[in-house]
Amino acid sequence: MPLLNPNELKFPCPNCGGHLLCDMSLCGIKMTCPHCQNEISVPRFPSEKHLEPANVLLKKLLPEIIECKMYEDDAIIELRETLKQSGCHPLNFDIEPGDPLDVMNFDYLRLIIRMNRNFYFGYHRWKTDQDTDSLYYSPAQELLLSDTSIHSHNDTLSRWTAAGGKLYGIPSKIFMIALKNDPIWVKISAFGIPYPPFDYNSGLDVRSVDRRAAIDLGLLKKNNSGPKPIEAPNPPFIAIGDLNISASLLAESTMI
Ligand SMILES: [Zn+2]
Repeated sequence: MPLLNPNELKFPCPNCGGHLLCDMSLCGIKMTCPHCQNEISVPRFPSEKHLEPANVLLKKLLPEIIECKMYEDDAIIELRETLKQSGCHPLNFDIEPGDPLDVMNFDYLRLIIRMNRNFYFGYHRWKTDQDTDSLYYSPAQELLLSDTSIHSHNDTLSRWTAAGGKLYGIPSKIFMIALKNDPIWVKISAFGIPYPPFDYNSGLDVRSVDRRAAIDLGLLKKNNSGPKPIEAPNPPFIAIGDLNISASLLAESTMI
C-alpha cells in the first residue's frame, strides 16, 4: 500500500481546515470543499521542473550526510538555496511560508533527509541479516516502539494484528515477533519494504530474537536450519515534493 503518490496533493481547506485530497493536475482550479461546501482554489504547487535541481543535489548530499561528512543543517541550507534559484519561493505559488506545502520549510526538508537516512540504516541492517549464518542464530525479530511520544503501544499492536501478526507473551507483557523473512514485515510497512522505518514518523524499530527464543516461541523447529535469505529491496529515494504531509506530522517531524 504505497502512500507516496507525487501526483496527489493533500491540503487543508482555507475555509474550514478540512483535509482535502486531489490530483496535482488540478492545481489552481476552483472546486467546492466537500466539508463546508464553499468554493475554494486548489493551491498551486511547485512542479517537478522546479524541484528537479534540488533533488539532484539531495541525491548527491545524502551519502555525505549519512557518512557524517556533512551536517544536516548545512545540507538544508544548500537545498533551500537551490530551490530558491529554481524559482521555488513559496510566494511564487499560493503558499504561505511555513505552510506544510512549502517545500522550502526547514522542518519539511529535515524530514525528507531523515526519512532517507533511516531507510539507508534500515536497509543495511536488513541486508547484513540476510545470510545463512545470521538467520540461523537470529532467525526472528521483534517489533519495537522506540518512541512512545508519537504513537501508543496500542496503535502498534493494532497495526501488527491488522496485518495478521501474532502476539506472544502474557497480557501485561506482549511481544510482536515474527521470523525475519515473514511477509508481515512488508505488510506493516507503508512503503512495502520489510525494514524500518515502516511509516512516516512511526517511532518503530526492530530487535533481533535469537534461535533459542524463536524455538521456545514455536516459530522454528529445533532441527530447522532457519529462514532462507531473501533479496533486500533497495531503500526508496524520498524526493522533495514526494511528501504532502499534514501540518501536525510536520510539527512532530523532529521525532523520527
Ligand atoms: Zn472547507
